[in-house]
Amino acid sequence: MATAMPDLADPNPCPAVRGRLAPSPTGYLHLGNAWSFLLAWLACRSAGGTLVLRMEDLDPERSRPAFAAAIMEDLRWLGLDWDEGPDKEKARSMESYFQSARHAFYQGALRRLEEDGAVYPCYCTRKELRSLAGAPHPTRESPFGDSGAAYPGTCRFLSGEERRMREQEGRRACLRLRCPEHPVAFQDAVYGPHSFSPAQWGGDFALQRSDGVIAYQLAVVVDDGLMGISQVVRGADLLSSTPRQLLLFDLLGFPRPSYAHIPLICDAEGFRLAKRHASLSLRSLREQGVPPENILGFLAWKAGLRERPETARPQELAHDLAGRRTAWGADADQIFPPKLGASARLLLGPDPLAELCAVTAR
Ligand code: GLU
Ligand code: ZN
Repeated sequence: MATAMPDLADPNPCPAVRGRLAPSPTGYLHLGNAWSFLLAWLACRSAGGTLVLRMEDLDPERSRPAFAAAIMEDLRWLGLDWDEGPDKEKARSMESYFQSARHAFYQGALRRLEEDGAVYPCYCTRKELRSLAGAPHPTRESPFGDSGAAYPGTCRFLSGEERRMREQEGRRACLRLRCPEHPVAFQDAVYGPHSFSPAQWGGDFALQRSDGVIAYQLAVVVDDGLMGISQVVRGADLLSSTPRQLLLFDLLGFPRPSYAHIPLICDAEGFRLAKRHASLSLRSLREQGVPPENILGFLAWKAGLRERPETARPQELAHDLAGRRTAWGADADQIFPPKLGASARLLLGPDPLAELCAVTAR
């Protein structure tokens, strides 16, 4: 397995940063996606890193190839590029950058966990297994991602006989990870130190649904691990997924990446931007004549990277951020301005379109 190797000729032998953009092709990109991807892109590019684009199309009901194509088109329009991805030469020995084509890797990981006795079949009803394929997304009350009620461990200690009985009844099992009792702690580059107890991350969580669909938690770790990802920048709604993913990184023998969770962009009422905010899709903004430099400048200002909402290009922002990082010096883990982590949400004003149009030329 290839991992980022330090360049021995480099006088400053830091392992090379490998970041990723991991959209789910279930709709068109909107301003909120642009925000996450801009910050992920900047964190990686300002460190001279390599960026991977991976399509997270595991959920067969919601994913569409046409959205994957549209996402790439919209990212290019915005000016965000990547080095490895569905449209690139295979620089590494990756089968594919679409999760839907990577089942062999997920099955391999599951087999390994099975051999280690780390997983067990769970025969509980569908109600408890809701939405395992998708990443857990937040509610207004729980912006850091809600893992739902913890699985009570019902099927953890079933005997072989009890399993056979359930199978004879025609029940199909999902596979759950046997989780430790202890909390998992990590450092987030935006939200600081965090520790989650098993109850907080949802207890023994599922890695594969009873219909065979691989759970987001497993796929994302197998992919980040095999793709040698060292830096994860994503929405704060996935903070509570991080302890679960760290357990899997450790069990599968992959090095842990660093994490930076970023506030969720919400409308003036506090609702996360979503497909229903159709006028804020990048397509619609483009059709309404908003240039990409306005969008980037507006988002850079919201992130505290610029004093005013002025037009910006990705390369300029990456260059600025690299300079600032050196200035912050003392805390090398700090990627973004400290105030970015002041809240889990970043509220837009009542008329974001007007604000985007009002961004001034720099
Ligand atoms: N594909 C996931 C989403 O769009 C993101 C997963 C991740 O960044 O870990 O919600
Ligand atoms: Zn069960």
